[in-house]
Amino acid sequence: SWYNDFISKLIECRACPRLVSYRERVKPLPRFMNDRYWLRPVPPWGDLNNARIMIVGLAPAAHGGNRTGRMFTGDSSAQFLFRALYEAGLSNKPYSISRNDGVTLKCIYITSVVKCVPPNNRPSNEELHTCIGNWFRYELEHVGPRAIIALGHIAFLGIKLALGIRAEFRHSEYIDFNGIRIFMSYHPSPRNTNTGRLRIRDLVNILRMAMEYSGC
Ligand code: SF4
Repeated sequence: SWYNDFISKLIECRACPRLVSYRERVKPLPRFMNDRYWLRPVPPWGDLNNARIMIVGLAPAAHGGNRTGRMFTGDSSAQFLFRALYEAGLSNKPYSISRNDGVTLKCIYITSVVKCVPPNNRPSNEELHTCIGNWFRYELEHVGPRAIIALGHIAFLGIKLALGIRAEFRHSEYIDFNGIRIFMSYHPSPRNTNTGRLRIRDLVNILRMAMEYSGC
């Protein structure tokens, strides 16, 4: 399938010098001292045979995807997202901790607009455009989701750039484009979840709206 070929090329990408050097230099946290960090572009994953809903983050986390080698895996954002996915019946487990944790997803494909961890979670404009042009636009075309959930305004910006649309980011609202319904949510990072700005039930509601629209 397109996916295996896509991933084998993706993990060799070195198109953004600043991000290549940053991702490779991330130092293990004391609690992950025994882990072998991934330190490469981080593969998206999900229900490849029935990927009706695409969940799009900004980029992998330094000690999440950049450590485990799977998007939204092994950090607190992943923990929050998977509690919501489990509650909505879209994941068989309420967590995502490693590439061999036995998690399977239903209808869901998880990815990011930028595939390498950026310093301070901020890719430059050029890096954003490069990664979208090299990978994300192609991925979007091949997955062909019926619904997309943008996690945070930079993910939403990336989706707009990939599809060539204009719209404002508005949490828990959606826009329609060529039959695809694009939902917007705050990113499930501790900054938003610890302050109550984004609650599990808010994200579950957005997931349920996407399920209904996509016929999942
Ligand atoms: Fe390649 Fe994207 Fe990583 Fe840049 S951010 S090096 S384009 S995979």
